[in-house]
Amino acid sequence: MKARQLFLGVDVGSVTTKIVLIDTHGNVIFQEYLRNQGGPIAAIQRGFKKLSKEGLVDSIKMVGTTGSGRHLASVIIGADTVKNEISSHAKAAAFLFPDVGTVIDIGGQDSKIIFFKDGFPVGFNMNTVCAAGTGSFLDHQAARLGVTIEEFGELALKSRAPSRIAGRCGVFAESDLIHKQQLGYRREDLIAGLCLALATNYMTNVARGRPIKPRVLFQGGVAANAGMLWALKHKIGLDITVPPYFKVMGALGAALFARERFLDTEAPTRFRQVEKIASSEAYTMGFLCDDCGNRCEIQEIFVDDELAARWGSRCGKWEDLSLRPKTRISGKPADERQGNL
Ligand code: SF4
Repeated sequence: MKARQLFLGVDVGSVTTKIVLIDTHGNVIFQEYLRNQGGPIAAIQRGFKKLSKEGLVDSIKMVGTTGSGRHLASVIIGADTVKNEISSHAKAAAFLFPDVGTVIDIGGQDSKIIFFKDGFPVGFNMNTVCAAGTGSFLDHQAARLGVTIEEFGELALKSRAPSRIAGRCGVFAESDLIHKQQLGYRREDLIAGLCLALATNYMTNVARGRPIKPRVLFQGGVAANAGMLWALKHKIGLDITVPPYFKVMGALGAALFARERFLDTEAPTRFRQVEKIASSEAYTMGFLCDDCGNRCEIQEIFVDDELAARWGSRCGKWEDLSLRPKTRISGKPADERQGNL
């Protein structure tokens, strides 16, 4: 009998790390959503302990990473594919729903929109500047109103007269919410008003007037919030589908890329031993390259005090790890690190 073949996707974001394991058909075998308490490396290590306990590690044939911490994760884990968040979310969306027209993705600290044509992504917008509507912002406002984030969405649906809240940016929304709270507006009306304001903010700052085409998928941690789902439906005027793995779609996309690479090449994986992942110590440093007008900011990852990877140079020169920078802009001074280069 053929041994089981599994593919791992790891999505390291600024607030959470997501891990998904799929089989050759793309069925999800394991999923984990971890808060980055203690940093993303600790979150990855916790996730791997769980995978290991469930006896799933030996069947992993290839690994993909994504998210803002994808390079760090790729070095720690030994990834075979490294893709950006847009590609990974788009991959998962089109795999589950080939008729997808638009993906609305609202995560812990950023939000994005991806536009599709005939099942392929053709454009996207991202918003990493205004926090309004993101998971962290909603957590904060729920705490201010004395409700849990789980109750937050359900309360919004009970409102009969949503309050008018200014949603131009997070700061305005918060101060307007406080003001209306002091005036004695009912909690459910404040929450529904806030959801509508944040949906308007999303359409203005993220969608930026581009047409929203069906099928519309809503993914990312905020898709669990029934109030935001209701407000976006109201604002867009279309039905919205929340996919089954809405919280881990980036990791699912990364796993699908890893599966694709394996099926195309059957090349040996770079995946490191789980014991090594669990015991590794890693950190990031950086420097500015002044060798031409581009002035690239180069990021470096050290694993167990060895320089393991670099990225950020437009010309590729710093991919040669034997080269040494003159100075560094973070972490220890260059002299202290030269023994490891
Ligand atoms: S890394 Fe290359 S492109 Fe970037 S500043 Fe240095 S020499 Fe120029």
